[in-house]
Amino acid sequence: LDIAENVKSRGANVLRGGAYKPLTFPYRSESFFELGEEGLRYLAEAREKTGLPIVTEVMDPRLVDLVADYADILQIGARNMQNFPLLNEVARVQKPVLLKRHFGCSLRDWLGAAEYLLYGGNPNVILCERGIAAPHTHHPNSRSIVDMQAVPAVHEFTHLPIIVDPSHSTGMWELVTPISLGSIAVGAHGIILDVHPNPAVAKCDAGQALNFENFRNLTRKVRAVSDAMISEA
Ligand code: PEP
Ligand code: MN
Repeated sequence: LDIAENVKSRGANVLRGGAYKPLTFPYRSESFFELGEEGLRYLAEAREKTGLPIVTEVMDPRLVDLVADYADILQIGARNMQNFPLLNEVARVQKPVLLKRHFGCSLRDWLGAAEYLLYGGNPNVILCERGIAAPHTHHPNSRSIVDMQAVPAVHEFTHLPIIVDPSHSTGMWELVTPISLGSIAVGAHGIILDVHPNPAVAKCDAGQALNFENFRNLTRKVRAVSDAMISEA
């Protein structure tokens, strides 16, 4: 709720939080687990308090209706981009979908996945570039490469809106502001960011979250780039 109020006051339009979470390793513990439906209720409470629409990930085709009961936008995570049964289930629900690009997939693969949603009867798809894998991205200080040229390419080949996720792609908060500015400059319609009041103690993805001060500074710079883009158009 703190985060929701803070980002709303700085101009955020949508709140993203994870109640169901893909993790690279299967280990969970008493202090590290998914909140599931309880988490969805927290998100709904944050929407109630701030008016921010909620986006959250659905991973399991069997949970699409449950997640859609709470969420305003359904997120398909990078790892599930080509989970076709999940795409078919999500297409059935008349809620906008945030479709993240798999880190190993081409633009063609990504747009094919989007097509599953459109063809399945759901026209409201938002694309999200979240970085692609390359040999040097196996180093801890370079998680994945943001495919900047995918943004204008998406403009060329589709009518769908495109946003960039500088948090999950870089994995490092120090890189989040420059990549956000670059994303807006190449034509992204938005960015999605991890924010935490005290990133050091975040349960998940601690290295990539911005604290409130860094988020505030980022929004100021992003607005300047965005204004420059608008005045140029
Ligand atoms: C996320 O958005 O929390 C996430 C897990 O991202 P991605 O699917 O892009 O790895
Ligand atoms: Mn995450």
